[in-house]
Amino acid sequence: MPDQHLNPDLRINSYGTWLRRRFGCRVSKVNVDGGFTCPNRDGTRGTGGCVYCDNSSFSPGGTLPDKPIEQQMAEGMAYHRTRLGSEKFIVYFQKFTNTYAPEAKLRDLYGRALAHPDVVGISVGTRPDSLTDEALDLLEELARNRYVCIELGLQSMDDAILSRINRGHTLAEYLRAVERIAGRGIDLCTHLIYGFPGETRDGFLRTAGLIATLPVNSVKLHQLHAVKGTRLAEMYYRREFTPLSRDEYVTAACDFLELLPPQIAVQRLYGSAPLAIRVAPTWGLKNNQMWYAIVNELKRRDSWQGCRLDGACSSKVGNL
Ligand code: SF4
Repeated sequence: MPDQHLNPDLRINSYGTWLRRRFGCRVSKVNVDGGFTCPNRDGTRGTGGCVYCDNSSFSPGGTLPDKPIEQQMAEGMAYHRTRLGSEKFIVYFQKFTNTYAPEAKLRDLYGRALAHPDVVGISVGTRPDSLTDEALDLLEELARNRYVCIELGLQSMDDAILSRINRGHTLAEYLRAVERIAGRGIDLCTHLIYGFPGETRDGFLRTAGLIATLPVNSVKLHQLHAVKGTRLAEMYYRREFTPLSRDEYVTAACDFLELLPPQIAVQRLYGSAPLAIRVAPTWGLKNNQMWYAIVNELKRRDSWQGCRLDGACSSKVGNL
């Protein structure tokens, strides 16, 4: 495993390892709700949202979060300090579309997050169609002195799938957004999901090839899962959505990692939902158990992130 980006124990370039190398200490992400809404739900881009979107807390005009972000940050930091010994933090604007607001609101929220002395940066989850020039200019300005990451949802590179899941944007829009982010000193994380109805493993694996050609710094991957109250859950009950088996997901995730360049950090390899709202799949594994199921499969294959790119490993698909 010659590549210096990889954590030798995990065989991947884990984001946690990457953060420790960059900031010299344990860094955790702290989620905050900035009271945003989403153009794919409020009618601007679409209605109803992505079929898997948990809309239980969605309100068309946006919500005022119960707590100021300073309080949300303080609670999140206390949790991570106690549980993990984290010393520094990245404030993650996670809920809905976190650039979908006037520049003044974005400046206020991002600035308040960065004002905390233990915050090293911000991460902003958004959609390819929701990056105005003003928002990008603001993030570029903040990135001159601080770590700034845009987390851009692509989910699938197949336009037919994007349409079927009511994603409300195309691959071309994602590529255009990547082009507009590039060169501004902003890190880019791409969100991907595997397991959409009609998706094949080969189709999913082509995404690794696409990502390898783009200025992407990190990825988040998870299995498609349905939670209560979503249209995907209704599709599951109507037998229009068959969830992946755990083995199929682990196999595909390992194949994907073997095709992913080692310099791209891996932020996430699974998705989870509270038991009370989880519909399918129900693998019965805790968060870390899925992470280690994938790491252990890489070990079993004696392979690692990016090893197929230079022919250093030759594991065959589907060998679980
Ligand atoms: S883009 Fe995100 S917030 Fe908007 S509908 Fe899709 S999953 Fe929900």
